Amino acid sequence: MQTLSSFSSSLGNTHTQQKMPVVFAGHGSPMNALEVNEFSKGWQETAKGLPQPTAILCISAHWETRGTFVTAMEQPKTIHDFYGFPQRLFDLQYPAKGSLTLANDTIASVQTTPIEKDLSWGLDHGCWSILQHMYPAANIPVVQLSLNQLQDPLWHYQLARELNVLRHKGVLIIGSGNMVHNLGVMNWKTPEKGYDWAEEANQTLKKLIADNDHLSLANYKDLGAEVRQSIPTPEHYLPLLYTLGLKADDEKVQFFNDKTVFGSVSMTSLLIGN
Ligand code: ZN
Repeated sequence: MQTLSSFSSSLGNTHTQQKMPVVFAGHGSPMNALEVNEFSKGWQETAKGLPQPTAILCISAHWETRGTFVTAMEQPKTIHDFYGFPQRLFDLQYPAKGSLTLANDTIASVQTTPIEKDLSWGLDHGCWSILQHMYPAANIPVVQLSLNQLQDPLWHYQLARELNVLRHKGVLIIGSGNMVHNLGVMNWKTPEKGYDWAEEANQTLKKLIADNDHLSLANYKDLGAEVRQSIPTPEHYLPLLYTLGLKADDEKVQFFNDKTVFGSVSMTSLLIGN
């Protein structure tokens, strides 16, 4: 006879073996952490539709290193890695715990490059500004994986493929950056729209994503002047390549928060999974 407890435990097994979807979040301004707006609602709604993760692995544009590192501290600190914003943003804490298990599993899943444990970073705003809305209770452990700034885009894409095993352990992998991100020419007077070239680049990238043309996306410098102007430095784009590297051919992509703001930043985000 099946008891209630054995039924529960088999449900638990099913839950942990379900392949977790993957999210790319366009994070934009750190103020999105405080504001309730169309983007924060998009992140919140997306999280509500996901299975409850066992842990979160976040690849943020804001942690670039020489070599590849994974956070392995018990209690990561909230890093306020910006300036010129209101005090209440500096007061914000995201007190999620770390996970040595996920740090070890991340290291074990990647064969092609060594990953070292880091005890000094924490959670940067690329990570917590999103999670503040997705999981406001901060009750899911979070680990960050750094971006190795010595490597090219295709290398990052291929590294991501090795992380796929984590999805079968209930881990939610989030890439946090911006597909279009050129801070040097931002226009604070146009918060609701993008320059023509930025809108065009966003459309070009979205079409290639929909077509599963990941090789072209990894070689983004060959995609024309609009895309080059939209991605003057790679760090906000690389988290997108991580999420695409995790995508199986038959998995769906849903775009959300698909809007270009302040001239040169697109908030376009992706949910990958069936
Ligand atoms: Zn950023």
